[in-house]
Amino acid sequence: MECCRAHHIIAIVSLVLILSPVVVHGWGIDGHLTICRIAQSRLSESAAAAVKVLLPASAGDDLGSECSWADRVKFHYHWSSSLHFIDTPDNLCAYQYTRDCKDEYGVQGRCVAGAINNYTSQLLSYGNAASQYNLTEALLFLSHFIGDIHQPLHVGFTSDKGGNTIDVHWYTRKTVLHHVWDDSIIMTSEDRSYNSNVDGLIDAIKKNITGEWADQVQTWEDCSGNQTACPDIYASEGIKAACDWAYKDDYFQSRVPIVNLRLAQGGVRLAATLNRHVPRTV
Ligand SMILES: [Zn+2]
Repeated sequence: MECCRAHHIIAIVSLVLILSPVVVHGWGIDGHLTICRIAQSRLSESAAAAVKVLLPASAGDDLGSECSWADRVKFHYHWSSSLHFIDTPDNLCAYQYTRDCKDEYGVQGRCVAGAINNYTSQLLSYGNAASQYNLTEALLFLSHFIGDIHQPLHVGFTSDKGGNTIDVHWYTRKTVLHHVWDDSIIMTSEDRSYNSNVDGLIDAIKKNITGEWADQVQTWEDCSGNQTACPDIYASEGIKAACDWAYKDDYFQSRVPIVNLRLAQGGVRLAATLNRHVPRTV
């Protein structure tokens, strides 16, 4: 009988397009924390040692605790705001570096993919006393931006600012679609499944990385062809996920699995990026 199909309704999100200027954020604090904690647990010995040296003492050797630093300094480092996302052409569901990686003034390379390339290159100078870069900042920016590029709506349509101008209801709360993907899905998932504790979520994702997703991890880590970093792959996946999962007018199925997958990929790839380069330089 048609009527008796079981529904797993997490939420019904009604989309109403409105025009309201909203600041673009990345994953919320827990999303970034999750990615950085997963990454730190997968670092090679030399990459882990470098991260320990570069982290500020206040971090207590916990990369996760500084993973939202780039959001905190956005207003102080005003130039960095456009490095957190990519605007792609409306409804195209595709990304191209040369066409899309630019800031609001059209300056090429100033987007999250360009920033990942830039800060990965800077980290190549680790161990070189003549390095002109602030490698602590490079590490914190890279760790944050590899997280951001895995939030599907950080590679989103230009006119709605990655879902920031799309008004939605998440249960009883009014919010915007971008925020649902930054925070709401993760927080609801933590509340329902992990006693509102981010550590439970991190453990569950780690288990999936070594279990259910184990045979995909190598592909996630892949970055061949002498490239310093591979953000274009992640950005193309992002806009596809945004089209397949985020830009929909109903939410009859949980979006939790896609959020968990992107958090896992972010963590695995941050570790892989650091592991690829840092050992060469020490
Ligand atoms: Zn961000």
